Amino acid sequence: MRHLVIVLGDQLNLDSHAFDEFDREQDVVWMAERRGESTHIWSHKTRSALFLSAMRHFAETLRDADLPLLYTRLDDAGPDDLLALLDETVAQRQPKRLVAVRPGEHRLREGLRAIAARHGIDYVERPDNHFMVSTEDFATWAKGKSQWRMETFYRWMRVRHGVLLENGKPVGGRWNFDHDNRGAFGRAGPGWLPAPQRFEPDAVTRETIAEVNAAFPEHPGDPSTFDWPVTRADALAALDDFLNHRLVAFGQWQDAMWAGEPWLYHARLSSSMNLKLLSPAEVIRAVLDRYDAGKVPLASAEGFIRQILGWREFVRGVYWLSPSRLLSGNALKADGALPSWYWTGETPMRCLAETIGQTLRFGYAHHIQRLMVTGNFALLLGVEPRLVHEWYLAVYVDAVEWVEAPNTLGMSQFADGGRMVSKPYVASGRYIQRMSNYCDGCRFRPGDALGDSACPFTTLYWDFLARHEERFRHHPRAAMQWRSLDRLSPETLTAIRAKAAELRASLAASA
Ligand code: FAD
Ligand code: SF4
Repeated sequence: MRHLVIVLGDQLNLDSHAFDEFDREQDVVWMAERRGESTHIWSHKTRSALFLSAMRHFAETLRDADLPLLYTRLDDAGPDDLLALLDETVAQRQPKRLVAVRPGEHRLREGLRAIAARHGIDYVERPDNHFMVSTEDFATWAKGKSQWRMETFYRWMRVRHGVLLENGKPVGGRWNFDHDNRGAFGRAGPGWLPAPQRFEPDAVTRETIAEVNAAFPEHPGDPSTFDWPVTRADALAALDDFLNHRLVAFGQWQDAMWAGEPWLYHARLSSSMNLKLLSPAEVIRAVLDRYDAGKVPLASAEGFIRQILGWREFVRGVYWLSPSRLLSGNALKADGALPSWYWTGETPMRCLAETIGQTLRFGYAHHIQRLMVTGNFALLLGVEPRLVHEWYLAVYVDAVEWVEAPNTLGMSQFADGGRMVSKPYVASGRYIQRMSNYCDGCRFRPGDALGDSACPFTTLYWDFLARHEERFRHHPRAAMQWRSLDRLSPETLTAIRAKAAELRASLAASA
């Protein structure tokens, strides 16, 4: 055998460089489903089912294209560990080279290198043509900068790719319409919402779900709700559905939250893009076409493109600059445990019960729920970042380490000390009250930091400001927020801090 071409579960694009110069006579594609990939972190059942079903469908595409394929299913014999199985295959088949596109996880990349080295063969890593900036070009952009800011990167990407530009200047005279993108539904609520297209499980997905339920009965999640795209055709239909029905209002409502409404105007495209069923360039092209045809406002088109051309590419670049450092960061020295109800949603705090409840049900929450509800609470509470990272990697259908880790550890938990974002994303219950209706049905009151009805977010918020005052009081971007501490009398602050300590102790007991 000449090349053993590795295709991992999130590398399901036929135009991948993995297949460059593929020779049907001498090369073989290798794909494997292994228990270890669902247990080394505790994967949500829907997440496992989505990856495995999408892999099985992609395997069919490869067989249709007549590519020789070695495919190991979940219940096939062999080691549970993906890399151990590959090691065995290399020993048996003795390829001259291992060929792969860079994996989405540092652990696997190192593992592939180690196997090749152990067997004395070359590991040929090909660039990932799915992304719109290479890791090398990102590193050049980041070089010499002590902090990396998404906004600067995004403008550079807009110019590089000629997106929403007119004579070298941003269309509409502004680079971003962020201020128009922070609408809340208010008392009236969202009104009628366009329900996203469902993708009913076909026979392959149904069989996969049954196998996942049997293999991982104790794992979180409810795959009976499964309706995610598992093929490129599904993913293209999901894209069309978003463009036709939700993109138009995406910009205005992208930060809003509403009880019982998980999807609102969001795209639901992250898992399809992360599995590489869709490319970011084609998604952006489709959005630009709608904008050029006058079908969507600039604030929606720009707001959506910023998430993909900006945030998505940015976090990947950041991840690959120093994955080990990112994964071990704990700049605020947080050492608390994750409350056990992160795995059940059973808490009287309605915002958390709603966000975690829909997460367990669908494997989905939108960005502001992840950042300002579950992430905000963990940061205010002082949970050890590694535990928060493991939770996010476990529970979302779109979770792959290159995108999850920088979002969780860098953006949400400030564990990298501010290399990625200028200040911690923390807010009191007042923010959640403004952006949602969660507080209406909650037994706590978002404005109260003390007393029986004190909102835990608000108590912990003031406590967080006080705990980290030294670090942020004179910080150029955070000072204004920290100065709000001056509004509290010393007695009130002391009482709040005592209440926060009580709260922390009772939550630690439940962890
Ligand atoms: P929309 O809200 O409709 O946004 C459109 C697209 O923009 C998304 O599909 C996604 O591809 C991209 N996008 C938006 N924000 C980001 C971002 N911050 N980083 C990267 N891409 C972005 N996204 C993941 O794909 N996988 C993860 O594991 C993941 N973990 C996260 C953890 C935390 C703590 C936070 C705060 C965010 C995380 N995100 C993650 C980003 C974001 O929450 C999801 O991409 C988004 O909610 C997916 O839903 P959607 O497709 O409906 O997105
Ligand atoms: Fe969440 Fe506090 Fe509002 Fe309750 S009052 S929903 S805990 S923010």
